Amino acid sequence: MRKKIIAGNWKMNNDISATISLITELKKGITENTKATVIVCPPFTSLETTQTLLKDSIIKFGAQNMYYEDSGAFTGEISPLMLKSVGCEYVILGHSERRTIFQESDSLINKKIKTAIKHELKPIFCIGETLEQREKGITFEVCERQVKNGLEGISESELSHLIIAYEPVWAIGTGKTATSEQAEEVHSFVRKLIEKMYSKNLAEKIVIQYGGSVKPENAKELLSQPNIDGALVGGACLKADSFLKIIDAAN
Ligand code: PEP
Repeated sequence: MRKKIIAGNWKMNNDISATISLITELKKGITENTKATVIVCPPFTSLETTQTLLKDSIIKFGAQNMYYEDSGAFTGEISPLMLKSVGCEYVILGHSERRTIFQESDSLINKKIKTAIKHELKPIFCIGETLEQREKGITFEVCERQVKNGLEGISESELSHLIIAYEPVWAIGTGKTATSEQAEEVHSFVRKLIEKMYSKNLAEKIVIQYGGSVKPENAKELLSQPNIDGALVGGACLKADSFLKIIDAAN
C-alpha cells in the first residue's frame, strides 16, 4: 500500500509574515489522525522560517527548484547544499512553469535530479503534456519522453525516494482539472513505463501524484483512483482551510 503524499507548491507567493500565518494554521489542522504525508514547498526566502516553525511538526518541507552545482559563479541560483543547510527534505524539479517560462530542458532537469539524489534530497519530478499535445493525441508519447530523459542514467536504487508528479499543463492554475479517468489513464501508463524501465517492484512502490487545479471539491475523487498516490497542489495550498480539506480527502 503506497502512502498518499500531499504537497503544496506555494510558487512565488508568501512573504515571511504570510509564511508564519499559513504554517501556524496548517500545524493546528494536522493531527495524528492525518494519514497522508504532508509537504510544503515555500519560496527560498521562507525556507529558514519554515524550518524553525516545523521543528516539532510532522509536516515536511522542500524547495521549488535548485541548480545542479554545489557552489560557484551561478548568479541567482540556489545549490542543493544550501537547501540541505536549511533542512529541506524535498525539491520540486521540472515543474511546467520552469520548463516553459525558464526554458528548462529534459537534460537540465536530469542533471538536477541526479544532483538532488546525490545530496539525499527527494525530488518531486514533474511531467505533463500541454493542451496542444493532448489534442494531437501525443500525451503518452510526451510523458514517456519526459520520464525517460529525466531519469536517464539513474539506477533503480537511486529512485527509492523520487516522487513523480503528473501535471497536465492545461490543468495548472486554469481551474480545469483532468477528470479522474484522464488522470488515472496517464498514471497507470507511467507506472507501467517504470515497470518496463526498471522493475515491477519499483513500479508498485513509486508514488505518482496528480497536480492541476486540485481543490477540496475534486480531491476525494482524484485520490480514490488506484494509481493516484497524492496531489501536488498550487493555488489551493495557499489557504490553510482548503489545503487541509485536500489533506483530509486522502484519509
Ligand atoms: C502546480 O503548480 O503544481 C499546480 C498544480 O498548480 P494549481 O493547483 O494551481 O493548478
